[in-house]
Amino acid sequence: NRQIVLAERPKGAPTADTLKLIETDVPTAGPNQMLLRTQYLSLDPYMRGRMSDAPSYAAPVEIGGVMVGGTVAQVVTSHLDGFEPGDWVLSFHGWQDYALSDGTAVTNLGKSPAHPSWALGIMGMPGFTAWAGLIKIGAPKAGETIVVAAATGPVGATVGQIGKILGCRVVGVAGGAEKCAYAVDELGFDACIDHKADDFAEQFNKATPDGIDVYFENVGGKVLDAVIPQLNPNARMPVCGLVSQYNATELPAGPDRMNWLMGQILRKKVKVQGFIIFDDFGHLYPEFAKDMAAWVEGGQVKYREEMIDGLENAPEALIGLLNGENFGKRVIRVGSN
Ligand code: NDP
Repeated sequence: NRQIVLAERPKGAPTADTLKLIETDVPTAGPNQMLLRTQYLSLDPYMRGRMSDAPSYAAPVEIGGVMVGGTVAQVVTSHLDGFEPGDWVLSFHGWQDYALSDGTAVTNLGKSPAHPSWALGIMGMPGFTAWAGLIKIGAPKAGETIVVAAATGPVGATVGQIGKILGCRVVGVAGGAEKCAYAVDELGFDACIDHKADDFAEQFNKATPDGIDVYFENVGGKVLDAVIPQLNPNARMPVCGLVSQYNATELPAGPDRMNWLMGQILRKKVKVQGFIIFDDFGHLYPEFAKDMAAWVEGGQVKYREEMIDGLENAPEALIGLLNGENFGKRVIRVGSN
């Protein structure tokens, strides 16, 4: 049973020394337990936060502890009602080949789901985050302009496509020409600006001639800098993530602009609201699942997955994700399925 554990807390970006692979025995399921074989492991930006013991909304992984993560697994043996060998499940048992479970917080996906790994993406946590943050906090109206960065990732791509379904103008921000072309040509965004371009702010202003009504905040940094002056009166800003800052060890240098920012929020009457998806919106999951299943089925929402083989490759793949090396939802294929 291979497990990947947290070897040390990274200072700045995680390195090859941050996580290490160990071998343990495959456990045996006792009474009221089942043994799960991991097939897919989700990689997500929040994992950087769990490596750190800075105050957060969730406890950090202990040194030597198995890295946390969403997983899709198959039941090997079961002494639990409602779970049989061969069933596919969505669970949260982290970076390892096998795990024991008492069934808590495990969802049975059935014997042969069409796309089991999608439960980690469009049909799961990231899709739900996009749906709830945009609709429940952003509350966009037809004709308004929505801006979202990390535009080809599972959250941003979904935000933009829902925005189009709701009749909005959608402007994405992504790293590189290929991702931007995909956002416009495949996902139907009205424009997408490369944040690596030298004249990013200029291009961004041109793409938002009527200002911005909803800024779905995924990244912070220079994208946020470009957005604030473009916000319209009564704009809404769901604060979902700040991935450009997750590896930072200190606040960026420069003048203190806190009071300038508060002045903008005040004068433009901007609504800024942070959220943690399951804490704040867990009760709405069935509503999301119904909407998204219909949109995916109807081809209105597309989903891009980037599958990487081998649990041993997960640490490097997570380091790359935080640098924008992923193109679509990054998933590790752990098992043979
Ligand atoms: P992605 O798969 O989109 O991966 C992160 C992306 O962020 C990278 O691919 C990269 O895309 C972009 N990025 C990285 N560094 C920078 C930078 N310096 N400037 C601009 N963009 C950068 O991630 P997800 O879709 O899974 O998550 C998106 C956001 O949503 C994250 O901030 C995440 O933490 C947050 N989140 C929050 C939740 C909540 O409950 N609040 C739940 C789930 C996710 P590119 O190359 O295009 O720049």
